[in-house]
Amino acid sequence: MPPRHSLPEALLTTLSTTRGRSDRLTHTEHLPARPARYAPWPDSIRAEITAAARAVGVEQPWAHQAEAMNLAKTGQTVVIATGTASGKSLGYLAPVLSDLLDGTEARNGRGATALYLAPTKALAADQRRRAAELAPPRVRAALYDGDTPPEEREWVRQYASYVLTNPDMLHRGILPAHARWSSFFKVLRYVVVDECHSYRGVFGSHVAQVLRRLRRICARYGSSPTFLLASATTADPAATAGRLTGLPAVAVTDDASPRGPMVFGLWEPPLTENIGEHGAPVRRTATAEAAYLLTDLVEQQTRTVVFVRSRRAAELVALQAQDQLGRPLAARVAAYRGGYLADERRALEGALHSGQLLGLASTSALELGVDVSGLDAVLMAGYPGTRASLWQQAGRAGREAQGALAVLIARDDPLDTYLVHHPEALFAAPVEATVLDPDNPHVLAPHLCAAAAELPLTDADLELFGPSTAPLLPVLERRGLLRRRSDGSWYWTRRERAADAVDLRGSGGSPVQIVEAATGRLLGTVDASASHTTVHTGAVHLHQGRTFLVRELDLENSVALVDAADPPYTTAARDITSISVLDTDTTVRWGEGRLSFGSVEVVNQVVGYLRKRISTGEIMGESKLDLPPRTLRTRAVWWSVTEDQLLDADIPLDRLPGAAHAAEHASIGLLPLFATCDRWDIGGVSVPLHPDTELPTVFVYDGHPGGAGFAERGFQRAVQWLTATREAIAACECEHGCPSCVQSPKCGNGNDPLDKTAAVRLLDVLLAGAPEAADGAPAPTGTDS
Ligand SMILES: [Zn+2]
Ligand SMILES: [Zn+2]
Repeated sequence: MPPRHSLPEALLTTLSTTRGRSDRLTHTEHLPARPARYAPWPDSIRAEITAAARAVGVEQPWAHQAEAMNLAKTGQTVVIATGTASGKSLGYLAPVLSDLLDGTEARNGRGATALYLAPTKALAADQRRRAAELAPPRVRAALYDGDTPPEEREWVRQYASYVLTNPDMLHRGILPAHARWSSFFKVLRYVVVDECHSYRGVFGSHVAQVLRRLRRICARYGSSPTFLLASATTADPAATAGRLTGLPAVAVTDDASPRGPMVFGLWEPPLTENIGEHGAPVRRTATAEAAYLLTDLVEQQTRTVVFVRSRRAAELVALQAQDQLGRPLAARVAAYRGGYLADERRALEGALHSGQLLGLASTSALELGVDVSGLDAVLMAGYPGTRASLWQQAGRAGREAQGALAVLIARDDPLDTYLVHHPEALFAAPVEATVLDPDNPHVLAPHLCAAAAELPLTDADLELFGPSTAPLLPVLERRGLLRRRSDGSWYWTRRERAADAVDLRGSGGSPVQIVEAATGRLLGTVDASASHTTVHTGAVHLHQGRTFLVRELDLENSVALVDAADPPYTTAARDITSISVLDTDTTVRWGEGRLSFGSVEVVNQVVGYLRKRISTGEIMGESKLDLPPRTLRTRAVWWSVTEDQLLDADIPLDRLPGAAHAAEHASIGLLPLFATCDRWDIGGVSVPLHPDTELPTVFVYDGHPGGAGFAERGFQRAVQWLTATREAIAACECEHGCPSCVQSPKCGNGNDPLDKTAAVRLLDVLLAGAPEAADGAPAPTGTDS
């Protein structure tokens, strides 16, 4: 048997030099081992807690944990933004449990309380176990969520000192019933907001308003809890925490936890013989490439996990690798499909740990369900969307001393292509920020109603809820939702519960239910805003890794009837979009050109769809659809150039539409590098002569009513963002545009016209006038609290 643990470096060399693969490894990053740095336990942490921590193997905290504990004890809002497995929970638990322990000495046994919020129930349950490990039982920790039996709820309200819940339950169950929680709120010392980077976009904006409602209720009962947040590493964690809580925050970012050495390869699959849309060259898919690499790694007895996007892809990778390996090694490769029972998961973990299983292909489901730490190698077929998920996946490789190998294999799209050619975007300081926009009036309005139902709103509350509040209150009065009393306060007037009017995780409009036609089973939902594009009649829809064909989209009942299917094609909706500027917040001059941010109205009509062969991207046919237009009022960033600039750039008028359209596509592809969005959360329109700007203009807008902060982040980081866009197009080796640069899978216009070379010249002439500020950004216009 060959040696089981080759050095990661040697492994990568073997992978990149065999079978003519020499030009596919675009970068190798050596992440050196990082030794742990320790600090003494702060004096303010009680001996019972430090003793319990020692009993579970934590002799001393790491320096960043101690820093967080000290800050928390001063009442400062703190966000701990360090890597995965860096012990963020001990950082907030130690001060929280210490204070709760103090509180047990009060006459009623509950002189202090704390509230813990997690984005999922499973995480809250996990954290309850952590708390129980560290604190004696007289600190009463309890879950309070939809699964808590009614007979236990009263006990939690009256006696629990550490209540673990989620923002949805806080919004719908706890705040509206605050009077029954009064004894809990009176002594509320801490609010822990865990995994706070998951509160992004519209959901994050809702959670920000729920936290403001929470602060108001606490003030009413005379408490002013300290907020402790935990986040993945992102750009500006303190600013994000400030926006989420409405309080100034300090960030702890200097990670002192140890790390083994890692070799990280960036990998670009080769162009194939296949021809895609408009004759574009097509790269081998990231999943096919991953299967080849997996085969080689398994042949060398390397325990490897491949992360892919869908269950189908997981199965394809495993099948292809098994095929290439032949017997007997084929039997040591498997696909992880998700939905396993607990003992099946344990068996899989065991097989992987023992080395009986050498290769596993999986969706990111593994991130949550199965412990696969300590592998030799991790392959990622496509950028998982955020740096947080990237490091979470890569972190599965490596045990303490010996090194690990991680390889990111680029998908055929502009962001992945950019990343494998710009390693600094992954390995230097993060540029991607968690983005949210609590001032969105669509988000704010229902929370003002909910807040008024909890306690009448007064002028003193205006500041707490932000600058959109004052103009919104009279609107809510006209709609008959609020009424102003003679003392100036605003009351909720309806009989129904105000909090029921909004679902924190929806984005407005009643969602479309996806129902399996054969069984009538509800598979899930899609947002109304996305339904015309993603679940129109005839659409191929991927849902939680499984593929369905939409039999019928019933708009009246908001239902899409689907059948499980595995057609050899994907579908792409075709649409017509027009955009008008409602309000310009800010315009910055970029030489002769202009960059603006403001409110727009987008009218979009899906008129048909294309069927594209999966293997080649070839168009198999087009069908018409009869769907009504949809209107979206949202926030956008847009830029314009003048006719003189077009002359300078040598772009004749007949090439302008293709240039602007190509620049628009690539810029949408690159925005997720700067804001935690998906390219599906945003949209774009390019217009050779826009009636509002009277100039050639490219718009990028938030795909949710009222906006979610993505376009605003694009505006704030416009120089870096559009520079990266220009680079991504210019660096692509294709001749006339391909999916790696300017073609978009969601183009409503069939990727036509697109002019790659003119797009580069257009962006050049625009960027030539851009300000050269320190980090290239115009002053933020946001209303960060
Ligand atoms: Zn290209
Ligand atoms: Zn397009």
